[in-house]
Amino acid sequence: MKFQAVPDYHMHTPRCNHAIGTVTEYAEAALLVGLEEIGMSDHSPMPEGFDKAWRMDRSELDAYLNEVSEAQNIFAGRLDIKMGLEADFHPGTESYVKEMIAAHDWDYVIGSVHYIDAWGFDNPDEVKQWEVWDVEDAYCAYYELVAASAGSGLFDIIGHPDLIKKFGHRPPLDSQRVLDAEERMLVAVKKADVALEVSSAGLRKPVCEVYPHARIIARAAELEIPVSFGSDAHAPGEVGHAMDVCLGMLEMCGIHEVAAFSGRERRMQSIKRKTSVTQKSVSAGT
Ligand code: ZN
Ligand code: FE
Ligand code: FE
Ligand code: ZN
Repeated sequence: MKFQAVPDYHMHTPRCNHAIGTVTEYAEAALLVGLEEIGMSDHSPMPEGFDKAWRMDRSELDAYLNEVSEAQNIFAGRLDIKMGLEADFHPGTESYVKEMIAAHDWDYVIGSVHYIDAWGFDNPDEVKQWEVWDVEDAYCAYYELVAASAGSGLFDIIGHPDLIKKFGHRPPLDSQRVLDAEERMLVAVKKADVALEVSSAGLRKPVCEVYPHARIIARAAELEIPVSFGSDAHAPGEVGHAMDVCLGMLEMCGIHEVAAFSGRERRMQSIKRKTSVTQKSVSAGT
């Protein structure tokens, strides 16, 4: 890696029914790739009837908390493990999410939009709906929801902020209404003083691109929006995935620090290049 590792705050456990690995296995994987800090962020319980198959049940929350705190003890002094959660933002569920978050101590809560109304737009089983939706409408509706998620005051980090592109559906590059919706989203994130997640997960999806797009990262830099890193690992082997790519993008966009969280307090940590011998290989190159 060109950069010293920063915290990876986005990883799941099998409680969400679509991830593998124990917290201990995620922690071992993190140590193997040289991380000093990670945070678990499994898909949170949501009210009855909302996306039940893809998240832990409320009855599993205590076991999740226990597994993470046990790992915190096991790895103390070697790896800092934060207690996080990925909750959904979905209009109508805010009071449930608020109550659930308040019932426990978290280091941070990620807020993610995975649904436009009843459409799970990032679900491979529902990709056919893209034939029904106008792409610009979908992007605008999505960004409105992300803006509202920031404004809700429920979350510390906005998860994978342009997840809508996951399967590669793109509005025209010059679509002013999509660009306006994107700008309103970023202004809402700035106003709410929450962090924007830069996620390598998109690189593993059909779109093959970091979430969010470099244009959005560059605008976040102008607005001085804090960013955090997440691999969105659903298996231990994905921990820290493409961190270097993401940190390189941040550097290119003029962002030199990432957010770190403890007890829902944010502090900024500088992104440091590794001092290395690459100078030699550069001058010896063709
Ligand atoms: Zn997931
Ligand atoms: Fe997500
Ligand atoms: Fe996730
Ligand atoms: Zn996710």
